[in-house]
Amino acid sequence: MPSVLDPDLRRALAERVRYCHEMGIYDFYRREGRISESAVVDADTDNPPSTSDEQREEMAAKKSAAVAKVAAENIVEVFTPRAEQGVVDPIAALKLIREDLGDCTRCKLHKQGRKQIVFGVGNPRAELMFVGEGPGADEDMQGEPFVGRAGQLLNNMIKAMGIRREDVYIANVVKCRPPGNRTPERDECETCSPFLMRQIAVIKPKVIVALGAVAAKNLLAMNASMSELRGRFYDFLPAGARSSDPSWQGTKLAVTYHPAFLLRDPRQKGEAWKDLQMVMKFLRLEPPKKSE
Ligand code: SF4
Repeated sequence: MPSVLDPDLRRALAERVRYCHEMGIYDFYRREGRISESAVVDADTDNPPSTSDEQREEMAAKKSAAVAKVAAENIVEVFTPRAEQGVVDPIAALKLIREDLGDCTRCKLHKQGRKQIVFGVGNPRAELMFVGEGPGADEDMQGEPFVGRAGQLLNNMIKAMGIRREDVYIANVVKCRPPGNRTPERDECETCSPFLMRQIAVIKPKVIVALGAVAAKNLLAMNASMSELRGRFYDFLPAGARSSDPSWQGTKLAVTYHPAFLLRDPRQKGEAWKDLQMVMKFLRLEPPKKSE
């Protein structure tokens, strides 16, 4: 690698490294051509003909040493730590993430009629976090997630759990309204969700409730039906959060129906209540007394 990088290349590398950090990848090395042309190449062959066990062992040892040397010599020098790294105060850390997001144009949703970015709202130290799929028209207008009819139902669900909307944190997988309230597309979710992961890593909730299949599938990176996803807790550590962080080893994630779906099919409210009761039991929440 040349000692002085071309500025464009440096910028491109910085972007790439930043993206990898957001995805939870921290260690980098570059393979050198000269290494692959050396004896290491021979060791790459699965079954080299007429090679004794001793020779194979020796080659494997050479290969390990060579790869270690490459790793040591070629660590990409462009280092782009997350802005909030080392910031203890979650209010300040969330502010830094919001600043980092800026007037975001990272995915095509920025040019498809959004009025504003809907970052997230609530208690930066919340034990409970709700994650939906994306802002709708009301949210786009007001700049706050879950403020329309679905938001009112979510407020009622939160109240039924014995807590207030201000106690929890609410965000979405994508922060800009998809046109016509369509489902956010995969590339949009993949581009935007690292910011959600960073928010989660700052807030460190005890439980996340994924509202609907889109949120659940994106958070859990698995493709399954709601009936398969619901009814249990998942261990969840957001991409980008280091599991070695002694102060936080991740959160529990539960899946329930999106309030907009419950408005369309109120018969499922009982099922959603079962999901919330599971969360309440874990967080030791009591439903409000009748007089409250
Ligand atoms: S949805 Fe997310 S990634 Fe896409 S433009 Fe909006 S803030 Fe940026």
